[in-house]
Amino acid sequence: MRDIRRALLEADVSLPVVRSFVKNVTEKAIGIGVIKGVRPDQQLVKVVNDELVKLMGGEAADIDYSKSKPTVILMAGLQGVGKTTACGKLALYFKKKGKKCMMVATDIYRPAAIDQLVTLGKQVEVPVFEAGNQIKPDEIARLGLAEAKKRSVDILIVDTAGRLQVDKGMMDELKQMKKVLNPSEVLLVVDAMTGQEAAALVSAFNLEIGITGAILTKLDGDSRGGAALSVREVSGRPIKFVGQGESMEALEPFYPDRMAGRILG
Ligand code: GDP
Repeated sequence: MRDIRRALLEADVSLPVVRSFVKNVTEKAIGIGVIKGVRPDQQLVKVVNDELVKLMGGEAADIDYSKSKPTVILMAGLQGVGKTTACGKLALYFKKKGKKCMMVATDIYRPAAIDQLVTLGKQVEVPVFEAGNQIKPDEIARLGLAEAKKRSVDILIVDTAGRLQVDKGMMDELKQMKKVLNPSEVLLVVDAMTGQEAAALVSAFNLEIGITGAILTKLDGDSRGGAALSVREVSGRPIKFVGQGESMEALEPFYPDRMAGRILG
């Protein structure tokens, strides 16, 4: 168990999450009969692996589609985590599934954020609703939603402004947008390189705005992806997608079994 604890910490799983996980698995493993021909340590690794998969949700989780059009996906997350990129990737992902998509640009603070989404929209051939940077984000969201209804859009993806750190202004803005949009999904975009801090971050967003799931980005980097475990443990919500590169194709559903293998190393 000491080795497992070390592996989880090296994979950047948050310490409190590691503690409760190790305790849980230890209780589960004690009393299990040794299978002939299998080494006890291999058997233990299997128990750990199964528990990791279970903790991360078992199966890949799909998006919650709303009964009436459009299904709204509100994106949240700190600046630089890959939120705008993830909007473009999601739009392409759903477009390939035959869904009519639209994106909304509400980041009125970061210079060129709106242009960035418009450019991605062109690249994946999905329209982007924008209203400049002179009106408030929740008002842009309201206009975007009305436009999506008019155009009979299936999936509306709303990009939002991040901040460098968790910040009251950002949370208030997200709360306001959530009220206006009544989204089926509030997806928190988490950079896999966030490491140990992922748990506190997810907890803050979940307490403030209530997330329905997360997207883990930059898994093409060195990170072993321990943040995935922290997200689930802290919020009870699944990771729904992972980003594995800068290209618009680099998005796939989250498979807990693959991630368990990666975390254990
Ligand atoms: P935002 O501020 O959260 O909207 O972040 P951006 O979408 O602008 O992304 C910040 C940077 O991370 C950009 O250079 C992206 O190309 C890059 N990026 C986003 N997702 C990924 C990913 O999955 N892998 C890698 N390697 N880079 C990514």
